[in-house]
Amino acid sequence: MNKTEKMSLAKIQAIVNQCDRCGACLTVCPVYDVAHREAAVARGRLATVRAMAEGGLTPDSKMAEAFEFCLLCKACTENCPSKVKTDEAMIEARQYMAVKLGRRAKHRLLAGFLGNNVLIKLAAGTLKLSKKTGLGGLLRCVVPLEHTKAGYREMAAGPAAFPALSNIPHPERPHPGKIAYFQGCAMKMFFPAAAQATVKLLSRTAEVTIPESACCGMPHLAHGMADQAQALAKKNIEAFADADRIITDCASCGSSLKEYGHRLAADPQWAARAQEFSSKVMGLSEYLYDVGYQPKQKNALRVTYHDPCHLVRGQGIKKQPRDLLQRAAEYVEMPRADKCCGGAGTFYLDFPEASRKILSEKVKNIESTDADVVVTECPACLMQLAKGEQQSGRFKAMHISQVL
Ligand code: SF4
Ligand code: SF4
Repeated sequence: MNKTEKMSLAKIQAIVNQCDRCGACLTVCPVYDVAHREAAVARGRLATVRAMAEGGLTPDSKMAEAFEFCLLCKACTENCPSKVKTDEAMIEARQYMAVKLGRRAKHRLLAGFLGNNVLIKLAAGTLKLSKKTGLGGLLRCVVPLEHTKAGYREMAAGPAAFPALSNIPHPERPHPGKIAYFQGCAMKMFFPAAAQATVKLLSRTAEVTIPESACCGMPHLAHGMADQAQALAKKNIEAFADADRIITDCASCGSSLKEYGHRLAADPQWAARAQEFSSKVMGLSEYLYDVGYQPKQKNALRVTYHDPCHLVRGQGIKKQPRDLLQRAAEYVEMPRADKCCGGAGTFYLDFPEASRKILSEKVKNIESTDADVVVTECPACLMQLAKGEQQSGRFKAMHISQVL
């Protein structure tokens, strides 16, 4: 066993040893809700990982798949009396499996694609074209597309500056300084109009720049490629060095960017810079709430809100989007708003049946509110909720930037 494997197992053991097998996680795990198997809930997962770390189980592909069968939604941790970080144990276990069994081809492909900005721009352009030519209808089977004529080109053209439109922040609050928009891969490819709405909103508070961002690294970390995640983190730290605040409208990106300080803590050359970078990162609603943003007018929509896991539990942001939406429209809370929608990165592609069942419950909860629009602040959730929109026909799914 090499040093990396030993360190990985030590990290796993430090987490699993905190579990006292009380079973409180069984009541909140969305995967357990649909799979009804002990191996699919935090307690069972941790037992499997513990057995593997102690040498009682030999890593194999079935075990690797069991570790993938987790949304990394943190609901178990939130409800756990010992606050056991099962999602982190799963991420570390995936890393260990990738070293032991080799990285799976589909994850290598995904990582290679997301690590290459040229390919992302090409994909965004192709998606835009597919909408114009009607092929978008076919692609919609895989991912719901949102592309307008005012699409991607302006947003992805590289570093750009958008002048402040007006001084919206409350006069008694400190000026936000130089703000930079971190546009994640999914916002670039699938939701360019929502990304434009974000830039417009930010421009009402200060001058905005859009540095050329690399992928935040979350997909790489989630699939056993921690080394690539660290390389991407360093690229972003360089690219956003001049910003006073770094704002993102993707919950997953925000959660990942705020972790750079932790992820690079053991790297003496980067630790301080990573810490400084993470301290500047804010989610869109977190930022707008902080600067006292007021929508120009209240619209007639009835809206409800779905909490992205990486925003509500990953960053503790719950009040801010609700408060802003109450200023912008008629707001109604949905039942279990913070329960995962089943999208979770590539979970919906890897486990479509479980993802569909989890989404069905979300759709029922949205419909129970009679809302015209379900709003969220994460492109991964938005893709999943847009499928719910097609399934239901009773509501629209929109990014928060488009409602504010
Ligand atoms: S709630 Fe926490 S301590 Fe209890 S079984 Fe689940 S992970 Fe273990
Ligand atoms: S992170 Fe979410 S899906 Fe994974 S075990 Fe915990 S509650 Fe279940």
